[in-house]
Amino acid sequence: MIDARCSCGAVALSLPGQSSLVVACHCIDCQRRTGAPFGVGAFYPAETVTISGTPREFVRDGGSGAKVRSFFCPDCGSTVYWKADKHPTMIGVAVGAIADPSYPAPIASVFEQSKHGWVEINGAGVAHFQQSGAAKNSK
Ligand SMILES: [Zn+2]
Ligand SMILES: [Zn+2]
Repeated sequence: MIDARCSCGAVALSLPGQSSLVVACHCIDCQRRTGAPFGVGAFYPAETVTISGTPREFVRDGGSGAKVRSFFCPDCGSTVYWKADKHPTMIGVAVGAIADPSYPAPIASVFEQSKHGWVEINGAGVAHFQQSGAAKNSK
């Protein structure tokens, strides 16, 4: 088991281990969510994740039209995880909240249409997409 948590620790997740489904996202919503030039999420089946604490929920319209729900700590403000109504069985966990530099690297880099020019997501086999990974527009 590994943990993810917010800055103050009031919101924490217990995860079954490392996920191999790690995605770097350069969309503007992820930039604003994180305050960083891009976000990195590790995806887990929702039933494998145990949530403790009482996060607040922020709902926004996702790029595909379905809602995306970000869950953040009301005390320190860190977003720890999110859910997309489009993929209700999955939870996205902010990789920074896991705080493990040896965590697996992204397998995909999405929404590169709004990527900062100096950011390079490298690694063996990483897939690059201008929009979402579902679109047929990889370069
Ligand atoms: Zn907190
Ligand atoms: Zn994004």
